[in-house]
Amino acid sequence: MGGKLLSIYETLFARYGDLHWWPAKTPYEVVVGAVLTQNTAWGNVEKAIANFGGHLAPETVAAMPVEELAEVIRPSGFFNQKAGYLKAVTAWYGKYGYDVPTVQKRPLGELRAELLETKGVGQETADSILLYAFGFPTFVVDAYTHRLCGRYPVESGKGYAAVKAHFESELPESAEVYNNFHALIVINAKEHCRKKPTCDGCPLGGGCGRVGA
Ligand code: SF4
Repeated sequence: MGGKLLSIYETLFARYGDLHWWPAKTPYEVVVGAVLTQNTAWGNVEKAIANFGGHLAPETVAAMPVEELAEVIRPSGFFNQKAGYLKAVTAWYGKYGYDVPTVQKRPLGELRAELLETKGVGQETADSILLYAFGFPTFVVDAYTHRLCGRYPVESGKGYAAVKAHFESELPESAEVYNNFHALIVINAKEHCRKKPTCDGCPLGGGCGRVGA
């Protein structure tokens, strides 16, 4: 592992431990959550998923008229648009018979390219699906990752592809490490490295150049 990222990972791990992300009951629920969480708070995603009444399955979503689906996911916001996105990503999953091991047999690069061609799926959504639903070693970059890199700083370059490549080159190719590191960055951003940082008590304070700034 690379020096600075290893140190950040170990420091965050020592504080928060193994977070066992993503908060979902099934891989398909991860897929749905990754789409619904776009431009909304996670609490709204939970409300939308609860509206399925325990029947969130790809077969259900594929069979549901898009207008009905939009009503079910209304709490997540942008519901008409997201209903279309859910239909598209579910159709993608359908190519593999809604079967996790079948997806896992495919090369990561091909799956990522297919997802990026799917309506409503950008890089963060594609990587979240591939890492958290299917266990592929692909690092997820989000606004909290960019914030940490800018503040600490981590010399990752700018933009999704550059930051992802930097993390992947510095870390071992491990879905477990990528999974937990992303979750650790998110929790620390919520606890301390907020828009207006609360550096007091932040586990990264010892190495962060922006501490107290
Ligand atoms: S010390 Fe402050 S700026 Fe640095 S990571 Fe922690 S909260 Fe963010």
